[in-house]
Amino acid sequence: MKVVQLSHGGGGEETNTLIRDLFYKHFSNDILIKAEDAAVLEVNKKIAFTTDSFTVSPIFFNGGDIGKLAVAGTVNDLAMMGARPLYLSAAFMVEEGFSFGDLEQIVESMAKELVKSGARIVCGDTKVVPRGSVDKLFINTAGIGEIEKEGISTLNLKEEDVIIASRDIGRHGATVLMARENLDVSADLQSDCETLWPAVEALIGGNIAIHAMRDATRGGLSAVLNEWAQSSRVCLEIEEDGVAICDEVRGICEMFGFEAMDFANEGSFVLAVAPADADAAIEILRRFDFCENASIIGRVTQKYPAKVVLRSNYGSSRFLDLPKGELLPRIC
Ligand code: MG
Repeated sequence: MKVVQLSHGGGGEETNTLIRDLFYKHFSNDILIKAEDAAVLEVNKKIAFTTDSFTVSPIFFNGGDIGKLAVAGTVNDLAMMGARPLYLSAAFMVEEGFSFGDLEQIVESMAKELVKSGARIVCGDTKVVPRGSVDKLFINTAGIGEIEKEGISTLNLKEEDVIIASRDIGRHGATVLMARENLDVSADLQSDCETLWPAVEALIGGNIAIHAMRDATRGGLSAVLNEWAQSSRVCLEIEEDGVAICDEVRGICEMFGFEAMDFANEGSFVLAVAPADADAAIEILRRFDFCENASIIGRVTQKYPAKVVLRSNYGSSRFLDLPKGELLPRIC
């Protein structure tokens, strides 16, 4: 088996071969192959800039891998600010002895994911570290996008806004947990890992009055809703039955004592929109297969400022708190 060796990160001939035969081959674009010390970028509008490191374990999981996650994760953070993802950097920290075939599969998966938003990897870095210094592979991506719609902000929720969830929740966290525990619950359970820009672009194109938008990654839906309630000093009243959770995720939560609303997602987002635009937003979202069960989950009120209230079908209600305690490490 061909493996990555320390010499691949040494900056010499082997490094050049790795860059040419792997990264240029799959990420090829006119900016990257110039191979200057820094990429020179053209932008016309205000930009959004973000970075994220990916350490997920296992690196391959049902519905994705660390490469898909590293592209979708950064692209989605740009999209959530109303920015069209344009340029990404990619830095690979590889453990000596890592399978070259696996690395190529991950790079291919990144290239495939980039096509969905049109973003390009324009600069990168590779470090190979001795066995045991990292666990297999870590990837950092940073991204720049041009703001297509201004004013989307966690500070911008307004009374009467409608809260929409783009799909059922909890899939990524549940999938990674299952893979780590070596439990084969169901082939139907796969991570929601997905590039969200096409749906966001359609919402912007449809002139939806988006007040806030956030992908429900670490900390899940609970974290997003609580952060919004606190930042905008509003109350979010959520209908528990409005929040879609698939049977597999429900089952895993019961088995392990987790809350689906605390589980990480990697292709699910929450929006706060003006009430008049809620139906149009749902209609647009449902055109995309990764948002086909988009639904209204609640409303913004002033009942308990900075709090999230969860109302059950039976008329009872309780506060939904931020996730506490030991959350699953290395989920993304
Ligand atoms: Mg985010």
